[in-house]
Amino acid sequence: MTSDMDVGSLVQISYGDPSTIVESIREDSRRIHQFQPDILHIFSCAARRTFWTSKEPTYEIQPFKEISPSCGFFSHGEFLRTKGNLNQHNVTLVIAAMREGEKKEASAMSVLTERGTLSKVPLVSRLATFISVTSLELEETNQKLEYANEKLKMAAIIDGLTGLYNRKEIQSQIEKELAREGTRKFSLIMLDIDNFKQVNDTYGHQEGDMVIIALAKILHNEEMAYTDKFSAGRWGGEEFMLLLHDTDVSAASFIAELIRQCFANTSFPTVRMQTISLGVTQTTEDDTLDSLCTRVDAALYKAKKSGKNKVEVL
Ligand code: GH3
Ligand code: MG
Ligand code: MG
Repeated sequence: MTSDMDVGSLVQISYGDPSTIVESIREDSRRIHQFQPDILHIFSCAARRTFWTSKEPTYEIQPFKEISPSCGFFSHGEFLRTKGNLNQHNVTLVIAAMREGEKKEASAMSVLTERGTLSKVPLVSRLATFISVTSLELEETNQKLEYANEKLKMAAIIDGLTGLYNRKEIQSQIEKELAREGTRKFSLIMLDIDNFKQVNDTYGHQEGDMVIIALAKILHNEEMAYTDKFSAGRWGGEEFMLLLHDTDVSAASFIAELIRQCFANTSFPTVRMQTISLGVTQTTEDDTLDSLCTRVDAALYKAKKSGKNKVEVL
């Protein structure tokens, strides 16, 4: 079957099953034989001839020719009318059986030529199986590729330990937000675990990792609670950056305080309670990525300098 296809169209290759087609033709020819027609008009799509190769019209038309005199031709682009709708209905075999007057005594139907005529079928059948398996495998491979591609894309933007965005990604999101035309206000929260070196030194790196993961989970929960408004990324070892779209500094400080309390109330089996310090800032008109990050870092530094386990705004 030939058709125009736009570049980028998704197509699935399929092929008729020769024995099913032949069986359905036999069934139709039995029904038509019952009708006892005087004449048959047979129109077959040229694509069907391509399918059966040089053996056509033997397979499809022969059974009908044995019923009554017939005429017809190979056509292109058949039409089918159903419920008032006219559709192009390619690759069809259309048979108009006509009779004048009453049905005559049905003559015994000659056994439809089965032997010999299907000699070519195994080849076509193999081809059909090949194409159907190949297209199935192709589809599966495509799905796997898509999945692998998705994973690769994720790996490029996600931090392996915490599952939050990596620094490159969160930085690029901040840059995009700054570049947005008619920028609305947004805020950043930078946070860092207090005295974390001590945690590692006392309890080991693995215990330290568990604390980082638990903090990331709290941040991820916030991300879920404020979808579209909130992006969380791992900025460095035990340092995180949160981007809050369309959020002013007072709303951002409120969220920062919630996160601080939530983490301070989390008890770990070995390292018990830990704390974080947070810096908050809001964009000004002529901020760059650099000026914004410097300011939020300074806010965090202020929180560290003034005793830790607190939120400071600049
Ligand atoms: P402060 O309160 O001033 O932040 O003190 P601190 O000890 O947390 O600060 P510092 O920057 O001196 O130490 C951070 C430590 O975090 C050092 C480093 O070994 C540790 N660290 C960084 N990344 C990881 C990590 O992925 N896992 C673990 N377990 N530790 C990490
Ligand atoms: Mg620290
Ligand atoms: Mg640090």
